[in-house]
Amino acid sequence: MIKYSLHCKNCDFSFESWFASSKEYEKLKKKNFLNCHKCNSIEVEKNLMAPNLISKKSQTKKEKDQRKYEKIRKTITKYQKFIKNNFEYVGNNFAYEARSIHYNEKKKQKGIYGSASKQELKELKDEGIDAQMIPWVEDKSN
Ligand SMILES: [Zn+2]
Repeated sequence: MIKYSLHCKNCDFSFESWFASSKEYEKLKKKNFLNCHKCNSIEVEKNLMAPNLISKKSQTKKEKDQRKYEKIRKTITKYQKFIKNNFEYVGNNFAYEARSIHYNEKKKQKGIYGSASKQELKELKDEGIDAQMIPWVEDKSN
């Protein structure tokens, strides 16, 4: 069974009706067996559920985006954990530390990570110092 919302073009009356299937609806419609419950006109059409469909679709898209975001966040968090375990945190001294490694050939056991401004990154790059910018999410659980 399927419930359709029907609309009469003649008197502008809307009503709901049950059909065995969408095929049955098409059959009745073709044979002009569909009448308005109010004025008996056969100018009856299935209501378009468009607004409903659209809101449902956007909801799904929102959920999809949410899932995508969660996945990305998880990846970043995993990445961050790896960096925290394997790199030395230098905070805002990143540019300075990167230079001291580069110019003094100070061999550090660990790589470094920290904060740098866009300008600092540009300067490092100009000096031939390789720095990767990665997205970072604040870990609120800590
Ligand atoms: Zn009608």
